[in-house]
Amino acid sequence: MTKKNDTKHAVKHHLHPFSDNGQLKKNGVRMMVKAKGIYVYDSDGTEIIDGMAGLWCVNIGYGRKKLAKIAKKQMEVLPFYNTFFKTSHPAVIKLSEKLIEITPDEFNHVFYTNSGSESIDTMMRMVRHYWASVGQPSKKIIIGRWNGYHGSTIGGASLGGMKSMHQQGDLPIANIVHIEQPWYYGLANDNESEEEFGIRAANWLEEKILSLGADKIAAFVGEPIQGAGGVIIPPASYWPRIEEICRKHNILLVSDEVICGYGRTGKWFGFQTLGFTPDICTTAKGLSSGYLPIGAVLVNDKVTEGLLAGGEFNHGFTYSGHPVAAAVAYENLNILADKNIIEKVYTKTGPYLRKRWQETFSQFKYIADIRTEGLMCGFTLVKNRETREFFEDFGTTGLLCRDIFFKNNLIFRACGDHIVAAPPLIISKKEIDIMLSIAATCMREFEELMD
Ligand code: PLP
Repeated sequence: MTKKNDTKHAVKHHLHPFSDNGQLKKNGVRMMVKAKGIYVYDSDGTEIIDGMAGLWCVNIGYGRKKLAKIAKKQMEVLPFYNTFFKTSHPAVIKLSEKLIEITPDEFNHVFYTNSGSESIDTMMRMVRHYWASVGQPSKKIIIGRWNGYHGSTIGGASLGGMKSMHQQGDLPIANIVHIEQPWYYGLANDNESEEEFGIRAANWLEEKILSLGADKIAAFVGEPIQGAGGVIIPPASYWPRIEEICRKHNILLVSDEVICGYGRTGKWFGFQTLGFTPDICTTAKGLSSGYLPIGAVLVNDKVTEGLLAGGEFNHGFTYSGHPVAAAVAYENLNILADKNIIEKVYTKTGPYLRKRWQETFSQFKYIADIRTEGLMCGFTLVKNRETREFFEDFGTTGLLCRDIFFKNNLIFRACGDHIVAAPPLIISKKEIDIMLSIAATCMREFEELMD
């Protein structure tokens, strides 16, 4: 087993994603060596609560032996075959049928990828190809939102609204534009109700459409709840109004379900919780609970019809519909369904977390905007919650706070000065209590530091 003092060795050759690798070389990393349930264990044997389900993905929890068995069996029978050239295989057919079973009636087709970013890039190429196929090739612009996160490829990073990502490498690429995010606490006017703000925020889309011309716009893309942007839960009035605007102006509506999909909000998909019906869903992460890389773009009948009319879609990945990943994803979906995991999030652990999350964090003066939906939750660190005064250099304080959690063996994440959590969906009420008791200790330490 790797010892703690080997951690600098771990970064000798590996350039880590979203990291300052120079700092990592100086300070080393924490070595994770095994995991079970909601816990991961480092090389010192320390038990750590994974309040982020890895990267919002290990929905069924760690250590499911059944998935390892399925992967082994599939590897022995058919470790790889492609689906490019008039070929298919049973694993991908089974998975497709399962996905169609869990989606609304008008969704009957799936395009496979290996990640959320690839699902996003696939969708971007797909919506443009769709409009060209139905005789409207000028509809090319895709609208995303500031602080949205849609992955790290050139397409995904452009569509996402993370300015720090745009700064590296001249992004966004052409024909991508952004509107403001629907963050009530941060952006509402004084005395504006949540409902009023939700409508106003959705209307920013219509204003953008009118200024650019609907004949130039292919799609609007949003996460039902912005995840990496800080678990920004829009008011209930927001998504129905967005849907209305998209329909009125003949613009495709895309739900990026990479985080919200497969149970995170207490329903199979985030759009079901937030009250709208998209034309396309981009998914990954929870599709296999992170056990193997796989993503899926779910496409409704209207878009499929257009695509079929367009002849060959010149797009795909060597591992689109990889048999081992597909077999594992199929079993993962069965576990989510058969063990009523999503239903429990909706009826039991989601409401419990909401209550306990509020109780735990409302006692701290530097915390505002305490929010949860299903098993996604967040709060914002502020200097003064009444006057909505933020700390200088948005993000620095968040990292400070996040590091206190990490030191206390609890993984939460800082998204700017938003602190967020998204534990595995199998977390029990007792485990929620343990998690929040550690979190309260961490916040006391944080408050002492800031006072
Ligand atoms: N879309 C959303 C909403 C995400 O949260 C992410 C990743 O966090 C992505 C897309 C990109 O997924 P991946 O990292 O698998 O490429």
